[in-house]
Amino acid sequence: MDFVGKMKIGVIGAGYVGLVSAACFAEFGFEVCVLDKNENRIENLSKGIIPIYEPGLDVSILKSREAGNLRFTTDMYDCFTDADVIIIAVGTPQKQGADDADLSDVISVVENICLGLTRNKHVCILTKSTVPVGTGNIIKKKISYLRPDLTIHTHYDIVSNPEFLREGSAIHDFMLPDRIIIGLDDVSKKAKSTLMELYGAIASSGNTTLFFTSIETSELIKYASNSFLAVKISFINEIANLCERTGADVSMVAKGMGLDSRIGDKFLNTGPGYGGSCFPKDTRAIVKTASNLGIDLSIIKTAIKSNDNRKEDMAKRIITEFGDIKGKVISVLGLTFKPETDDIRESPSIVVIKTLLEAGAFINIYDPMFKPEDIKVTEAKKDFNNDSVQFMPSIYEAANQSDGIVLMTEWSEFRFMNKDKIKDLMSKSDRPPLFFDFRNMFTKDEMKMFDYFSIGK
Ligand code: NAD
Repeated sequence: MDFVGKMKIGVIGAGYVGLVSAACFAEFGFEVCVLDKNENRIENLSKGIIPIYEPGLDVSILKSREAGNLRFTTDMYDCFTDADVIIIAVGTPQKQGADDADLSDVISVVENICLGLTRNKHVCILTKSTVPVGTGNIIKKKISYLRPDLTIHTHYDIVSNPEFLREGSAIHDFMLPDRIIIGLDDVSKKAKSTLMELYGAIASSGNTTLFFTSIETSELIKYASNSFLAVKISFINEIANLCERTGADVSMVAKGMGLDSRIGDKFLNTGPGYGGSCFPKDTRAIVKTASNLGIDLSIIKTAIKSNDNRKEDMAKRIITEFGDIKGKVISVLGLTFKPETDDIRESPSIVVIKTLLEAGAFINIYDPMFKPEDIKVTEAKKDFNNDSVQFMPSIYEAANQSDGIVLMTEWSEFRFMNKDKIKDLMSKSDRPPLFFDFRNMFTKDEMKMFDYFSIGK
């Protein structure tokens, strides 16, 4: 990308959103400093060790570090001083024991930002974290309370700029989005021109709409979009159930539906339910926000329930097919909630594995991002807290002497596995080994050496 200016950007939160945003803005030529409260993470990043897996992120960070556009710190003054834009990209997980979004990290970041604001310059405080509608207003009140010496629109502005990147294709999504949603106050002329400059390079491609709206509308666009996609996934999963009883094929139903431009072909792949760090928590949070206001978002509520049932139903299908699964060894292929990421937050695999463990099965996990020697495995094992789970270094070692295989994540590596070799490695009985393909990666014909189960067919 061409150099477009030396605007200074402070990014708070070195996670999937913060790091990708920082790397991309640095590639545009801005001077970017990333702050995280996790000292270990910052120390590693400063040495070029990237804490998450996201295709292309390592190269992008390296390039910008070498160009001198990107640095990492735990010192907030270092990050905020001179910044023209401060981007909040910290997590907003589900509150413990409740459905609301936990805003404590966002609020503590805002308190820190207040310490760094000055009367000498204007700063745009931009929220990329997914926050419930009304949060922008809370941020405004917090700043005006903590810094009564400053005036909004003169010394600072609050901007809602929700992020829509998808893990696994985050750099591409950030660089070439369909739309960039920007919520700000009408009167914020300075904020608008800063945002135009910030996203100028992307907008100039001609394929991206810069959509300016109010802060509240922007906040809600994010939740409404994620909820709509979650509903779409739950919808096709229920249609898949109907296909199984009627002789219809869900892949063809989805294809036929997707040919209708009013519907579109995205998010119509049936599977074991949606997971990840966004859809589950965002759907619950929007339902909670609405219910606090006396509004019943019954469609989203039903999609959440349908998705929860879906994950358990996948495990039940396996248990039912085995009859008695106690003592059986099941190999699970894929732990991440989708391919090309190392994120296992709310992954359907976790629910399926836990249910199988409760039924007495032993589990071998193979995931390209979780090799037994990886430090991440220790963390992932905590999710199961069970000695009957083992992480394996390859598909073949996972399959060895196992009684069944469950494909949970559509890693492309699985497509190329040697199926005959796997069949030969699996434990022998009077029935061909069982293979549950919960991503419909294969056809029945390709899998004829197994007792093969797909979904929606
Ligand atoms: P993450 O958990 O990967 O990263 C958050 C980072 O913020 C962590 O490194 C954490 O240490 C840091 N942090 C927390 N509190 C801090 C503080 N007070 N000061 C400094 N650093 C702090 O989160 P993520 O997946 O990048 O998500 C961030 C936000 O973006 C969330 O609101 C999420 O819903 C939203 N979002 C995520 C995605 C996605 O695909 N991951 C996509 C769109 C939007």
